[in-house]
Amino acid sequence: MQGRHIVKQDSDLMHQRNMKMIYKLIKSERVTTKAKLTRITKLSPTSIGRIVGELIENQFVQEVGQESNGVGRKATSLSLNPNRVLAIGVSVDRGLIQAGIVNVEGELCASIERPIDHSISQEMLIRKTVELIEDLIGRYDGKLKQALVGIGISVPGPVAWPEGIMQYSPQFRWGNCNFREELQKQLKRSVLVENNVKSMAIAEHLFGDMKEYTDFIVFNVGSGVGAAVISKGRLCRGASNFAGEIGHTIIDPNGPLCDCGRHGCFQTYVSMNSVQEHFGMPFSEVIAKRNADKEVQEYLEQVTDRFAIMTANLVNYYDTKCVLFHGQMQQEWPEMVNIIKEKADKLIWKSLSKEFEVLGADIKSEMVASASVILSEFLEADNLEAVEIPRKEI
Ligand SMILES: [Zn+2]
Repeated sequence: MQGRHIVKQDSDLMHQRNMKMIYKLIKSERVTTKAKLTRITKLSPTSIGRIVGELIENQFVQEVGQESNGVGRKATSLSLNPNRVLAIGVSVDRGLIQAGIVNVEGELCASIERPIDHSISQEMLIRKTVELIEDLIGRYDGKLKQALVGIGISVPGPVAWPEGIMQYSPQFRWGNCNFREELQKQLKRSVLVENNVKSMAIAEHLFGDMKEYTDFIVFNVGSGVGAAVISKGRLCRGASNFAGEIGHTIIDPNGPLCDCGRHGCFQTYVSMNSVQEHFGMPFSEVIAKRNADKEVQEYLEQVTDRFAIMTANLVNYYDTKCVLFHGQMQQEWPEMVNIIKEKADKLIWKSLSKEFEVLGADIKSEMVASASVILSEFLEADNLEAVEIPRKEI
């Protein structure tokens, strides 16, 4: 009897895997037919018919018209129902919490936001985040409950993965906050918490210009400098999920004091904060003077020189094909991307520089980035159910 039970479990698992495989295939094909799916998967037409029927019945897939197969017969075209799988993406930053509903194609369907004080306590941040998410769920129609596969949250600073413990928040100046566990307990849904630059890298790979790239690096430049490395299509986390803290690379141990407590970190030379502090004015005003003021020109030359050196070093370390600039500095000064590319080209080891690119980020929404942490887990799982929290990678 037990043997039969195991066989039944195995066949259920196989069925779920096949359902997920067909779902992902329809997603990547955009529009397809049962005949094409049969050809690609080499499953029998009967199996494809049964699986597609089940996907349609559960509204994961929809029929979108007829397609001629060239011999007079018409086949039904199939496509994904993008709103059947939704995630909530939450971005927490110093002055604002934003929460949005994002579908499996990376489209933002609805969003709300609340201002927060920079001196907010851990308990209050947890409470405000829970309230905002509950408010968003309450506003959306009843279908959300069935379609929601989880909640992804992005925060600046180092975060333990997958535990979701905020080790230290440079924005709020406190640490050791068990954010994921608290939220999951209160919301009773799967929650994942990730560093905001890593979320952005996942989103670029899943939904943005970096879909076709297996090796790229995202630079986030705002008040500080962070980075995330995607290698062979996977996010490099390192031993403690801190890989990519490039902003704290020591350039000169006798250099300016960094907010990490050490001296001469890379970000003390190149972040928006460092530019603002040097000139005693907002970054936008500094940038407005870049064609007229010699001191501004010289300072910005140094900034792009340093970014070009860091970019060239990273290309040598990782054999990466693209460096993507994201964040407020790039938004306010888009030309920095081309200047850095030109300078980096001269520094990169020649055999690596041929196909190398420096680009501005494609994904603009932090909420889409946060939701992509959940959606990428959903797409990797063997079933079409809500995301289970991944076990710690060994
Ligand atoms: Zn530092």
